[in-house]
Amino acid sequence: MPVADYNTYCRMLDRAREGNFAYPAINVTSLTTANAVLRGLAESRSDGIIQLSTGGCAFASGTTLKDMPMGAISIAEHIHRVAAKYPIYVALHTDHCQADKLDKFVNPLIAETERRRAAGLPNLFNSHMFDGSSLPLDENLDIAVKLLERCAKNEIILEIETGVVGGEEDGVTASAAARLYTTPEDTLEVARRFSAIKGARYMLAATFGNVHGVYKPGHVKLKPSILRDCQEAVEKTYGKEARFDLVFHGGSGSSISEIHEAIGYGVIKMNIDTDTQYAFTRPVADFIFKNYDGVLKVDGEVGNKKAYDPRAWLALAEASMAARVKQAVSDLKGENSTMFRG
Ligand SMILES: [Zn+2]
Repeated sequence: MPVADYNTYCRMLDRAREGNFAYPAINVTSLTTANAVLRGLAESRSDGIIQLSTGGCAFASGTTLKDMPMGAISIAEHIHRVAAKYPIYVALHTDHCQADKLDKFVNPLIAETERRRAAGLPNLFNSHMFDGSSLPLDENLDIAVKLLERCAKNEIILEIETGVVGGEEDGVTASAAARLYTTPEDTLEVARRFSAIKGARYMLAATFGNVHGVYKPGHVKLKPSILRDCQEAVEKTYGKEARFDLVFHGGSGSSISEIHEAIGYGVIKMNIDTDTQYAFTRPVADFIFKNYDGVLKVDGEVGNKKAYDPRAWLALAEASMAARVKQAVSDLKGENSTMFRG
């Protein structure tokens, strides 16, 4: 199916909410990784979300240009074209964008969607994340409210973050003293500020001890019950419909029971990057070690073109990453959940 439109995306999120499952939102940085996600989702018969980070988009534009919007548009257009051939729906999202990068990344991408809409074309992206978590909450929400107003006019969903995700992603490291746990008071303030915006839809990354990257067991102290407390508080004040669509960041290394507990409290999107990065690279390492004198020209020999042709090992990487996407869908209880009826 083509990339989901706004109504389809909203129905996807509603179905996850009602059906007690979540969508994997997988970071990609190239055509091959994007193809891997589509393959994994299609083999799981699950819809899903493909997302791009600022660094991933700079990379995708080429290491000479390092042009974030150009990389984003380029990969998004590829996905718009090939997704039409897969029997599932996929939504396109951009990952963490801090306030100082909005004018270099998210705002030009929203402007691109505005241009496309004016020409009668589909949106480029379905949703964007603004990460104001390093700012005081009122500053975070002042920026978010303005962005959400613009997004709502263009049928774009906005993801925001309260509290701070620890660890390192795309070179941005949260400080050791960072506030890793959000509070019901923070999230009530989000609901109060956003409920005034007509027709707006948003997702909330409410942190509960999440850390980006992967750490040995014991380093991550998740407290999913924080999500339950936030949902209870918002439901009490604003009613059942005000319950949040929650996003789980930094979930690498989490146990299945923690993931399922978080889904039970309303997580409908779980970001996955570290685990699929490893899945992509793992078979490449294996291939290089096993075909040492094929990929290299050793001792005056000529190597083996069949081995050093990048397709030989990129195809293995694509298959392995697709398998990891399938595992993610299964962990998130989304197998066979596609809305596509073809
Ligand atoms: Zn994140």
